[in-house]
Amino acid sequence: MVDYPGRLAAVFFLGGCNFRCGFCHNASLLAGKEEGLPWKEVEAIARRFRRNWVDAAVVTGGEPTCSRHVFHTVEKLREWGFRIKLDTNGSRPDVLKRLLPLVEGVAMDVKFAPANYPAHTGFSDLAALTESIRLIREQAAVYEFRTTVVEAWHGPEEMRAIGEWVKGARRHVLQAFVPRSDLPDPTCSALAQTSGTHLHAMADVLRPYVEQVEIRGEF
Ligand code: SF4
Repeated sequence: MVDYPGRLAAVFFLGGCNFRCGFCHNASLLAGKEEGLPWKEVEAIARRFRRNWVDAAVVTGGEPTCSRHVFHTVEKLREWGFRIKLDTNGSRPDVLKRLLPLVEGVAMDVKFAPANYPAHTGFSDLAALTESIRLIREQAAVYEFRTTVVEAWHGPEEMRAIGEWVKGARRHVLQAFVPRSDLPDPTCSALAQTSGTHLHAMADVLRPYVEQVEIRGEF
């Protein structure tokens, strides 16, 4: 009910990711070694969802553009009658470009200011991220950029740099960081949960750069 704005959506997780974020909530999927479901079973589940009012599907991960199954997954979901939203970290604009005509919506994480990506995610191809932002803005029918706000890392300076990067975007979503004991980096488990006050303050910093700022998952 929250993953596809305005629609009831089934969420399909594809394993594997080319980032190594210490705060990842889907760490079990990172290596891409989790056993998946056979296609017959996926189809039975998907068709059952369709019969039960679910008309949208979110393809997420991990990072779906790293999965060799992403095109087959998207094609099958389309065949079974779903509208599709793709979640991505934006690292593979070449794959994203081929997926864009097949999906209705895209949500891309813009996790940090460009300069802070390598330290927090292990990913340093900033040109790829910039290209994905451009492609999404120009070609996606519906899109949003998203930042999970961590109070210790996302202050006004960080948010201004993110704002400059996505400047002119239609919609940017801020969500609260919630610590968990099973995060890949134990120091991230000790970080504080983001307060509503901080989220609203960061939304105010971002507002001059984008058309719409939304706060999601406030506690
Ligand atoms: S990009 Fe997403 S799935 Fe990949 S490590 Fe970072 S938080 Fe986890």
